[in-house]
Amino acid sequence: MVAGKIHDEKRQGEAFLPGSKRSHSYDRHFYIESYGCAMNFADTEVIASILDQNNFGATPDFQKADLILINTCSIREKAEERIRKRLKDFTSAKKRNPSLIIGILGCMAERLKSNLLEEEKLVDIVVGPDAYRTLPQLIQEAETGQKAVNVLLSRDETYADISPIRLNSNGVNAFVSIMRGCNNMCSFCVVPFTRGRERSRSAYSIFAECEALFNEGYREVTLLGQNVDSYYWRDEENNSNVNFAQLLEKVALISPLLRVRFSTSHPKDITDEVLFTIKKYENICNYIHLPVQSGSTRLLQLMNRTYSREWYLAKVGRIKEIIPDCGISTDIICGFCTETEEDHKESLSLMEYCQFDLAYMYFYSERPGTLAARRFEDDIPLEVKKRRLQEMVDLHRGHSLKSMQKDVGKTFKVLIEGTSKKNEDELFGRNDQNKVIVFPKLNHKKGDYVMVKVHDCTAGTLIGNVIS
Ligand code: SF4
Repeated sequence: MVAGKIHDEKRQGEAFLPGSKRSHSYDRHFYIESYGCAMNFADTEVIASILDQNNFGATPDFQKADLILINTCSIREKAEERIRKRLKDFTSAKKRNPSLIIGILGCMAERLKSNLLEEEKLVDIVVGPDAYRTLPQLIQEAETGQKAVNVLLSRDETYADISPIRLNSNGVNAFVSIMRGCNNMCSFCVVPFTRGRERSRSAYSIFAECEALFNEGYREVTLLGQNVDSYYWRDEENNSNVNFAQLLEKVALISPLLRVRFSTSHPKDITDEVLFTIKKYENICNYIHLPVQSGSTRLLQLMNRTYSREWYLAKVGRIKEIIPDCGISTDIICGFCTETEEDHKESLSLMEYCQFDLAYMYFYSERPGTLAARRFEDDIPLEVKKRRLQEMVDLHRGHSLKSMQKDVGKTFKVLIEGTSKKNEDELFGRNDQNKVIVFPKLNHKKGDYVMVKVHDCTAGTLIGNVIS
């Protein structure tokens, strides 16, 4: 599913605040907003670095920008509608400053290509996820009054040599992309068309980036990929290969003080080797995001997910066997083409069996160009899709509350990420299982590890006190 499925609704449209440590001022300024998954946010940090190298500084205020960029998502129709609406907000800025350049980047740019220039007259440049290195050149073209487009997908681009400029960073946790693209062809998904074929980044460059982050004071990295389990890098120099379990181990060995998370796993590819590596290293978090998409084997086949309901349940069982306290989250879609009430009940019963700690639930949104759009009719009525989604949401709400209540009385190692938004005398962080915990600040600070005993919870947060 979407890389780094950490689709943080609160971060949608987040403006990029200057993180660059450059000493001297910039000639021009750019304003960028990011939408979609963590992979897109990680890309925005690469884009910021490329622009920084070309004397563009970031501004959080688009009124002060010479260049406005939107890094877009195309996973659902709603995601694209949101961008079209947002674009209108820049009309007045363009009227005030006709030399202002507006660019659409990311998956929507790749899906629509130069059609976007026809559909959205405000847009000057359209850049796909593999073409960010050419951004400075495209800006130059646009400055001559031309429209500029580069949506070429690459078989080897990983931006491995570009050090990202951290986005609105808390200085504690950072995303590190380990691969790009996807070779799976799930029939509902646009990602293979918007991000291209799968390619893994050099393990050396990933290791170097994680080590540099640790030396800068970061204490957690999240390794990102559409399907991290198929990470595979050929080390020609040493005539060896690096798979995901070996990469995890390399990063974990940087320091026991560096927490390692990753996303997204794939049920057909996750191996025992990965699970035993998680078990072996205390600093690799016991949390796995394992999208299921449906509980019905018939639908999983139509979705081209390449595994059955039984296979998925066996994988969850294996995870619990090897890492008993592992937190598991998922993605699940209802209302996919031809889904019957029986299929839907199978999704509900699978959720009941797995008791997911967290679930991202959606109803099917047909995406043009996908296998499903070409082969199947989007035949489930909207009100049925909405009713089935509500049933999944209601069921999961009970499971996640139970999962929180189960932790009352337990003590967890927490990495402090910052001050609680609700109470400045409280700090927050997450435990291994990726659950947020709040507790009184006392004399602790972000970046510290503390042991917190939980005495209460809400549906989304554990509440505790530091005991050491
Ligand atoms: S094609 Fe499948 S595995 Fe790949 S990103 Fe899409 S949903 Fe995920």
